[in-house]
Amino acid sequence: MARAALLLSVLTVSWLAAPLSASAQLVALDTALQGRYLGEYLSVWVDHDKNTPLRKVVQQQDWQPVGEAIPNFGHTASVYWFRLDVQAAAESKSWLLVNSNPLMDYLDVYGVSEEGDVVSHYAGGSQRRTTEQDIRHRHNLIPVHMGEHSLLSYYIRVESQHSVQLPLTLWSLEGFLAWDEMTGVLTAAMLGALFIMLLYNLFLYTTLRDPIYLAYIGSVFGFMMLQVSLKGFGLRFLWPNQFAVSSVAVFVSAYATIFFATTFASWFMQLKERGFRFMIVLDITRWSALGSALLVHVLPDMMRMYLMVFLGISAVTMGIIAIFTYYRSDDRPIKIFTMGWIVLLIGALLFLMNRLGLVSVNVWTEQTLSVGSVLEMILFSMALGDRINSEKEQKLKAKAVLLHSLNAEREEKQRILLSEETARKAKEKTLQIRRDANQRLEAEIEERTTELRQATEALSLMVQKDPLTGTYNRHHFNESIHAACRRASETRAELCLMMVDVDHFKRINDRYGHLAGDRCLIQVAGVLRSLVQGEGAEIWRFGGEEFAVILEHRTLLQAQQLAEHMRASLEATSFADANGPRHITVSIGVAGLVPRPNQRPEQLVDLADQALYAAKHSGRNKVCLFEREGGQHLA
Ligand code: GH3
Ligand code: MG
Ligand code: MG
Repeated sequence: MARAALLLSVLTVSWLAAPLSASAQLVALDTALQGRYLGEYLSVWVDHDKNTPLRKVVQQQDWQPVGEAIPNFGHTASVYWFRLDVQAAAESKSWLLVNSNPLMDYLDVYGVSEEGDVVSHYAGGSQRRTTEQDIRHRHNLIPVHMGEHSLLSYYIRVESQHSVQLPLTLWSLEGFLAWDEMTGVLTAAMLGALFIMLLYNLFLYTTLRDPIYLAYIGSVFGFMMLQVSLKGFGLRFLWPNQFAVSSVAVFVSAYATIFFATTFASWFMQLKERGFRFMIVLDITRWSALGSALLVHVLPDMMRMYLMVFLGISAVTMGIIAIFTYYRSDDRPIKIFTMGWIVLLIGALLFLMNRLGLVSVNVWTEQTLSVGSVLEMILFSMALGDRINSEKEQKLKAKAVLLHSLNAEREEKQRILLSEETARKAKEKTLQIRRDANQRLEAEIEERTTELRQATEALSLMVQKDPLTGTYNRHHFNESIHAACRRASETRAELCLMMVDVDHFKRINDRYGHLAGDRCLIQVAGVLRSLVQGEGAEIWRFGGEEFAVILEHRTLLQAQQLAEHMRASLEATSFADANGPRHITVSIGVAGLVPRPNQRPEQLVDLADQALYAAKHSGRNKVCLFEREGGQHLA
């Protein structure tokens, strides 16, 4: 950039200082002049008739100095004549006049001596076949033959449908060869570089299938063709003697370049998506360029040139506006693109300055536009590469974001699952606790129920049993005698009852004390129980020292026999209580009846009681029967 700025300032100064000579001067064959545009040494005469012969041209009086380094008369229907007066130098060298504008349809150069003799004639131009005599080169090389003459005037006739421009330079043969070699190498290098960019991006296109690469390739190819035709290589190598092609090659290339470059720029900066204000202008420019390229043959000659300039300026302006509108320092692709655009502009500016003769011609200044363009193409390609990168980065970023959100989702799911699992476990635990509690409760209830049942059983036993002797008590007797009475009445069976009373028990109490009396009662009860249970009956404590025995399904006689057996057994029993009686006797009253339905048992009790009373009265240690009929007692 610094170098470019320096160059620009030098150019400006040299432009201000450029001598605009009023009249043409003689040009001496001097190496100091080598490579400089000779415009200021030229005079010009316009031949409106187009076919004025040389003889008359030579005689013309109204030759005008050209006054600019490269004569440029734009598009014109006229034929232009230029005159250059050449003075021979002391050293004898071969010299060449070089016209580096290949877009010249007809070029005739006549060497005329002071005497008015035509000593040489060069006939060239893009609409002429190359001849045997010509030096085959992309430029028009016109040998300067001074011969014996010290002064020669060269009359140069230019007829062209293109702009009449005559970039004429004078070279010694050695100087030209050196310059040409270097220029050739640089141009080839530039074209090679462009070609590589083209191939590289073509390769990218085949892989990525993004049409923006096609636009880029198109602009590179168009620009290459423009360079090839502008520098004369097209005419020299690609379409020699193809007059139809050579007349339109520059325009087609330029239109194509404009079309593809604006398309590329528009797509690259995404101008449509961004709602670019001048999109319509840009599109009109674009499609007009394409249309012009396709319809170049039907466009009038003048239109081709004006359209090219107009579309070119429009495209560049749109590019600049777009860059100014969307330039952002953090947008790297646009930054690179902008740099490329600026390089192109500087190159174009230098090229123009050079063409205006504001700087002397040398290899480097000649190549400014080319170098700028190659740089630009490389920068654009870099911008494209960068775009791939940033797209890739964006994709990666999007992927990372997606991955992150997926991870977050997964983690959230895991968290939910975990909390669900925890909740489930907690629920299970609660259920287990509840189950355990229930089980414990059930076990406790069972235990309590068992205890209660046992207690109830014990209680009911207690209620049924006599606490002293362990025999059934009076309460139980009442229930039992009622039940037995009901059963007997139902089956019409005889029911017998024994009342057993210990004889003179009061005396035992009196003699041995109540506790001994108790023990005695216990023993008596034990003996009686063992005796009746052997007979399948039961014994009740009726009260005090009295016991009762209910006998079902027995006759009174059988009852009497059992009573007798009991009395005798007790009489025979000897008690082993040291502090108590050794022997006791009992009196037994026996009664029996077949109860009537609903008969209460008290009568039987009463009868047994009466029989017992009879036994006592008959002397105790007796068994007495109560018989219904007679009611008499049996001893
Ligand atoms: P009898 O031969 O006429 O039956 O004369 P007895 O002394 O046996 O009859 P009585 O009715 O005069 O006396 C019964 C006595 O039995 C009175 C009472 O003190 C005693 N007795 C009643 N129940 C118990 C008891 O549970 N334990 C003790 N030690 N004595 C009792
Ligand atoms: Mg008694
Ligand atoms: Mg008694």
